[in-house]
Amino acid sequence: MKAMGIFRLLMGASIVVSPLRAQAGLDVETQRQRLVDQVAAQMKSTRAETGRSDLSECVLRAMRTVPRHRFVPAHLVADAYLDRPLPIGMGQTISQPFVVALMTELLGPRPDARVLEIGTGSGYQAAVLAGCVAKVYTIEIVAPLGQQARALLAELGYANVEVRIGDGYQGWPEAAPFDGIVVTAAPDHVPQPLVDQLAPNGRMVIPVGSVHGLQDLLVISKGADGRAVTKRTIPVRFVPLTRER
Ligand code: SAH
Repeated sequence: MKAMGIFRLLMGASIVVSPLRAQAGLDVETQRQRLVDQVAAQMKSTRAETGRSDLSECVLRAMRTVPRHRFVPAHLVADAYLDRPLPIGMGQTISQPFVVALMTELLGPRPDARVLEIGTGSGYQAAVLAGCVAKVYTIEIVAPLGQQARALLAELGYANVEVRIGDGYQGWPEAAPFDGIVVTAAPDHVPQPLVDQLAPNGRMVIPVGSVHGLQDLLVISKGADGRAVTKRTIPVRFVPLTRER
């Protein structure tokens, strides 16, 4: 199963080659719709590992509307609608759209949910979440990235997103508990403060494993009795979760 997941991951990487040319000359709207069609197809092909074959209506709508080209550096706008991560400066990346869609879907977002994201980065994942839940709290440890994301999210009208600069390992105790927690940087273990800040019936989606290699994308579900159950999905590659010293 695991080997197959890695195989798919590599396949996923190889499909960026042809769209690179096919995208040239298309307007951003068309490029984005094509990307979402591609992401939806990849959801189907990873169904065995993720347990999901389709994106729910709100995740699909968010992926179809959030202008990813605004969240990437100006010199990479032409690559914004390729299904791949891109550098955003300060050694960090904006996640691959398929991974953003999958993580949002695995969270099982509900319109009344309050969600915590660790690793704001460009703000793209937060914007996708903002279309599906009531409120997004997001924490970024690199101050210039957090400030830039905060300004961009405000400019684009995402009024239900709050950005904090700090170490997300500790969560956001004043706003806890959360119905969902999505971690977009990789720790080598599940941070206990985040488990503690997950509400009963809440869900956390987090990459855990080797911080400079592949990680397993985990879904941790807390039952009504507060007991957590962990399910492993696909292998992924995230930048490391760093700590404040
Ligand atoms: N969700 C982002 C992906 C960002 S990459 C997006 O959609 O663009 C991961 C981000 O996590 C980086 O910006 C990195 O600086 C940040 N990060 C790493 N360790 C962190 C920590 N302990 N707390 C908060 N943010 C952290």
